[in-house]
Amino acid sequence: MDLRTAIQQGSDILSSAGVPDARLTAELLLCHALRKERIYLYSHPEHQLSTVEWIHYGRYLHERTSGKPAQYITKVQEFYGRPFRVSPAVLIPRPETEHVVEHALEVAQGAKRILDIGTGSGALAVTLALELNADAVATDISHDAILAARSNAEALHARAGFVQCDLASALSTRFDLIVSNPPYIPAREMGTLQQEVRDHEPHVALLGGANGTEIYHRIVPQAERLLQPGGWLIFEIGYQGESCVRSAFGPAWQDVTTGYDLAGWPRVVRGRYAP
Ligand code: GLN
Repeated sequence: MDLRTAIQQGSDILSSAGVPDARLTAELLLCHALRKERIYLYSHPEHQLSTVEWIHYGRYLHERTSGKPAQYITKVQEFYGRPFRVSPAVLIPRPETEHVVEHALEVAQGAKRILDIGTGSGALAVTLALELNADAVATDISHDAILAARSNAEALHARAGFVQCDLASALSTRFDLIVSNPPYIPAREMGTLQQEVRDHEPHVALLGGANGTEIYHRIVPQAERLLQPGGWLIFEIGYQGESCVRSAFGPAWQDVTTGYDLAGWPRVVRGRYAP
């Protein structure tokens, strides 16, 4: 079977199973089976799949139709233009989270030491360390997430150190910028998540307690302990969290503002520590 036919057949299998973006997904899974870049599919449409390639491709298609996210099959997700390795131990970095990077680049250009609380794959810590040419520290409660984030930092040559702890409880040095995309899905909404997310992504990275906002009220006091005066705290938030998260910033904070994502939902809340 040649590549053109393999793409067509894979795409048909995925779309009849209701998988969105069936053709693109088929192409990504085929590339992964071939261990080639996507351009290869178009430059070598006559390539005949070997038996091993065909078996791999078939398995990946089966995994995807069974609900596994494509990124956990290909083990990679791009974030802010860089490839991050992902495993089911970490949340797949979302494009919305790039808004946190944009806000950080807007307000914290001079930051030399940055902290990412609940780093997962390391997407925010690594991206900001590289974009700001800064030293990052990143925490996560999950040991496997720390391993994943550390290997991404090494692969992308970011200056970053990793600490396994709850939020920032183990830290005592000061930072110029703190970012966090904490778990913020309210427990009652778990059932409404896409099946791919609910059944495959780590619940410790998704579920933020009864309202999904309690965790922000725990992070803000820790940020007050760890931020240099004048430093920024930048959060990603869920679509219903804005007013509650803004209220977590007490009198020691100024310039508390909300940022919106491309769909128009409140997605980022930031504040400047001004004790
Ligand atoms: N944005 C993710 C989702 O919608 C949730 C991320 C988080 O809880 N921090 O699935």
